[in-house]
Amino acid sequence: MNISKWITRENGELWLTEEDRDNLKISYRVKEIIHEEQSPFQHIMIVDLFDFGPSLILDGVVQTTSLDGHIYNEMISHIPLVTHPNPKKVLIIGGGDCGAAREAAKYKEVERIDMVEIDEAVVRLCKQYMPEVSGNLSDPRVNFIFADGIEYVKTKQNEYDVIIIDSSDPVGPAVGLFHQEFYAGAKKALKQDGIIVCQSESPLFYMQTLNNTRASLKGIFQITRTYLAVVPTYPGGFWSFTLASDKHDPLTWRREWDKEAKYVSEGIIKSCFVIPGFILNKLDK
Ligand code: SAM
Repeated sequence: MNISKWITRENGELWLTEEDRDNLKISYRVKEIIHEEQSPFQHIMIVDLFDFGPSLILDGVVQTTSLDGHIYNEMISHIPLVTHPNPKKVLIIGGGDCGAAREAAKYKEVERIDMVEIDEAVVRLCKQYMPEVSGNLSDPRVNFIFADGIEYVKTKQNEYDVIIIDSSDPVGPAVGLFHQEFYAGAKKALKQDGIIVCQSESPLFYMQTLNNTRASLKGIFQITRTYLAVVPTYPGGFWSFTLASDKHDPLTWRREWDKEAKYVSEGIIKSCFVIPGFILNKLDK
């Protein structure tokens, strides 16, 4: 098997190096390259990393690992889903590792989960090689649509209770998922009392992206709330999510928490909206 440009051999050991930005590279020791392919959209690797287990790498960037993928996937799904009083129709944009869909499927009242992922290969490979994250999803309520989420939302109106934007970083096909125009389209696809949530990047290194996301959502929704989790494999550890709605505010209302999860709990749901001072100071109010 070829060794991709992100993996080097040093003293007989394989190392994956994620180049996050000019000032930061993160290296992981690789046990085994399980699979590698170039899709029409991105370079995809499933790599078994020491300590982290089987992991999904897109264009050299770690997306989800068996060790900590659940933290991100539980946080991006359960916070909007416990905030909505009766989520029946859920749309996930991106989310190719299937972890968010797996969490959404824990809600009995959810009748349909449309998962719009641009790259069919990500879903196929995660189902095959990363069942710890994807759950090898076969729930009949999950409807896979392999399409560009930006175009997809333009075709929908007043349809979804919850929209989860589970995108990769704003590069390549995901750039448009961070634009105001896309959020406006997503708002039309939501029902009037719907909730949207998106991953809004690192509050340490990409505060501008987080503030832009907040500004875009504040421009079109009555309520905008940012919350945090710590995801060890995301550069800087802290990760932000931003939720918006015209009706439901997670700070004043939520349903009882009764799901099985590894990270999310009643306490986490309450505390995740508490933003440490050094981040709060830089957050546009
Ligand atoms: N948990 C991950 C993180 O934050 O690093 C991201 C989850 S998931 C792997 C992101 C997915 O978004 C990828 O599989 C990618 O193919 C998909 N994606 C990127 N741009 C997209 C678009 N315009 N429409 C639909 N899916 C898109």
